[in-house]
Amino acid sequence: MKIWASELGFSGLRITDIRLPDEEERLQRWLARGFHGEMHYMAAHGLKRCRPDELLPGTLRVVSVRMNYIPGIPDICLKEEMFRKDDPLQARISFYARGRDYHRVIRSRLARLAGKMQESIGPFRYRVFTDSAPVMEVALARKAGMGWQGKNNLLLCRRGGSFFFLGEMLVDLPLPVDPEEKSHCGNCERCFRHCPTNAIVEPNLVDARRCISYLTIELKGAIPVELRPLIGNRIYGCDDCQLVCPWNRFAESTKISDFNVRHGFDRSGLLDLFSWTEAEFHEKTEGSAIRRIGYDRWIRNIAVALGNALRDMENESVRDAIVHALNEKKSTVSEMVDEHIVWALHQGS
Ligand code: SF4
Ligand code: SF4
Repeated sequence: MKIWASELGFSGLRITDIRLPDEEERLQRWLARGFHGEMHYMAAHGLKRCRPDELLPGTLRVVSVRMNYIPGIPDICLKEEMFRKDDPLQARISFYARGRDYHRVIRSRLARLAGKMQESIGPFRYRVFTDSAPVMEVALARKAGMGWQGKNNLLLCRRGGSFFFLGEMLVDLPLPVDPEEKSHCGNCERCFRHCPTNAIVEPNLVDARRCISYLTIELKGAIPVELRPLIGNRIYGCDDCQLVCPWNRFAESTKISDFNVRHGFDRSGLLDLFSWTEAEFHEKTEGSAIRRIGYDRWIRNIAVALGNALRDMENESVRDAIVHALNEKKSTVSEMVDEHIVWALHQGS
């Protein structure tokens, strides 16, 4: 199975059983504190998340896979991203969203893996997932020994850092399980200290309501005013706690051409993206995870980033260009977007 997974472009495959007793309590405490924000589906599925056999009755094992997603040389890409952090007119989009939407890529390859297994051993029951169902994918990958859960809650791997997707195949086969791996975070606190919004409340506890990934992707309504200045030029997701993690010196390139950067999403300017019409947004984000947030959240996010750029901008002609672009967009998208545009314009006064 490990050889087949590698041939299919996965960067690792491990197997675990379905017991996650500690996770049930952890999930309940996180939900009780309201840290899930508007992600009501997290509460709606309740403890099903921690019980894979409720998703597929008869499940005995979870096959956990990971797939690297950075195209090119990670060391160079991460250094370039650190420079772009400081350029307020650059639009920062999370690495994972710059290529083709990963959901279909991973699910179809997992289904091909299941097909190879069935050719070899005969029929068995299975279901495949990636970030698409109530599955505790990080906890299962950790239990399978794929790596350990970093203090930023992401899975970290000694041979690959954290820039990878996870996927799962639930099976009714009594496969041998892999041993767990211990944590290698040690005394490091870099992800805490560098989180722009202080979303990491304590090790392994993230208040999603403050996390920029949640604010720019999951949140449908207005972004809380007090958090807008902290978002900087991040318009879709946030990679900061990964960029500073020392284990990402070991991040590896993807073998999957679907994850190659599209439409220059690794070097786009805010004003260029803000000028897109709704039709252009749909055309240029076809097949991309970005399309899921829709045009109004896209423009909302860029308006906030433009407001942040305007606040400290000294170059008069650039200030004029930002103000002009914001005014042009007013009354063309939605009331929610207009409120963010007005906020952005105020940042320049
Ligand atoms: S993704 Fe960004 S905002 Fe969220 S926890 Fe990491 S550094 Fe903080
Ligand atoms: S930055 Fe440090 S504490 Fe955070 S996940 Fe990486 S190694 Fe662990």
